[in-house]
Amino acid sequence: MACVSFPYDAPVSQTLFDRASLVTPGGVNSPVRAFRAVGGTPRFMVSGAGPYLTDADGREYVDLVCSWGPMILGHSHPEVIAAVQEAVARGTSFGAPGEGEVALAEEIVARVEPVEQVRLVSSGTEATMSAIRLARGFTGRAKVVKFAGCYHGHVDALLAAAGSGVATFGLPDTPGVTGAQAGDTIVLPYNDLDAVRAAFAAQPGEIACVITEASPGNMGVVPPLDGFNAGLKEICAAGGALYISDEVMTGFRTSKAGWFGVDGVRPDLMTFGKVMGGGFPAAAFGGRADVMAHLAPAGPVYQAGTLSGNPVATAAGLAQLRLLDDAAYAKVDAVSAEIRGLVGEALAKEGVAHTVQAASNMFSVFFTDRPVRNYEDAKQQEAFRFTAFFHSLLSQGVYLPPSAFESWFVSTAHDTQAVERIAAALPAAARAASEATA
Ligand code: PLP
Repeated sequence: MACVSFPYDAPVSQTLFDRASLVTPGGVNSPVRAFRAVGGTPRFMVSGAGPYLTDADGREYVDLVCSWGPMILGHSHPEVIAAVQEAVARGTSFGAPGEGEVALAEEIVARVEPVEQVRLVSSGTEATMSAIRLARGFTGRAKVVKFAGCYHGHVDALLAAAGSGVATFGLPDTPGVTGAQAGDTIVLPYNDLDAVRAAFAAQPGEIACVITEASPGNMGVVPPLDGFNAGLKEICAAGGALYISDEVMTGFRTSKAGWFGVDGVRPDLMTFGKVMGGGFPAAAFGGRADVMAHLAPAGPVYQAGTLSGNPVATAAGLAQLRLLDDAAYAKVDAVSAEIRGLVGEALAKEGVAHTVQAASNMFSVFFTDRPVRNYEDAKQQEAFRFTAFFHSLLSQGVYLPPSAFESWFVSTAHDTQAVERIAAALPAAARAASEATA
């Protein structure tokens, strides 16, 4: 890793991180929040307003993480906060059905046409885990195809990434996942339909489902090539498998109907999270009614959750979704395009090899001049340049995801003033990237 000097410090965050590290592994409750990939001390945040976050040292940042996607209206949107306050005043959890759950399910079904029925859960991980269980229960088959570089949460069977070769049987990516748990997972290179065809040909009648990020954002933003998702759907249909589109990240962000609203390829099952929770733990999976009918209590495939459809989370999600009309998406798309343009310009001016890739308003910057079509391509970038770029921006009050392999997120609250702050910080950051050494 590049040797980055930090011309700034964050004493209160450092003290909190020291305390946290004593009682929490690595000092964080989700590894992506640690600055392991870029070095330095994670900033502990105390408040968010519109496009800004304020850390425990009192520094304000333009937020280009947006809680990893959910905060598409910016932080502390008054109507979302009001909906939460109203809901919370009525109680926080009932363990019995409530109207908010029905309304959120109806909103999802109305927006995303392939979703005929939906089940609410509390995290994206639960959604993908349950969707896979349902696909296996429905088809009576064991094997699952996933793509290298696609992240579907920390589901045991999906924590298997690529080995070499065209079709690699999943090797667990982490201790604690057994060979048996990952052994039915087939990991293939993204954007490679031939590899998918070969896997189906090699294992006729054994593949329960193909799960893919609708448009991947977890290896940086790597959109599907034209026809890739349609090809997956076709291969699944011909092979008797279900096509599961993971829209936890893209759902209700890349359009009113998520990535389905962009490419129109009709999945059998879909998973959602992030935006639909308005910043609270709410997620969902849904799709074909005949498949969903296999879920308990309607059918035999068990799935449950004490806090599923939580009244406060559903109120937040519903309030956020109801504000996300065509005008809101046009605004997020426009500000995303503007920021992408500024980043590209600044890096080009300093002669830094880069490729900015976007999927609607999600985008990321790869430090390579070659297009990135899969995880192998993504790994070819000069990630050490990102480290320097990241820290320069952080020191100037712009908060990026602390990894070169993540999507950046913007919101309707990113106004001219926020964009101007980013623009002012970019020249020095681009220079830092250009001067960085491996
Ligand atoms: N699927 C995708 C595409 C994701 O991006 C994520 C999280 O980033 C998940 C699933 C898991 O969601 P969660 O972190 O809510 O468990």
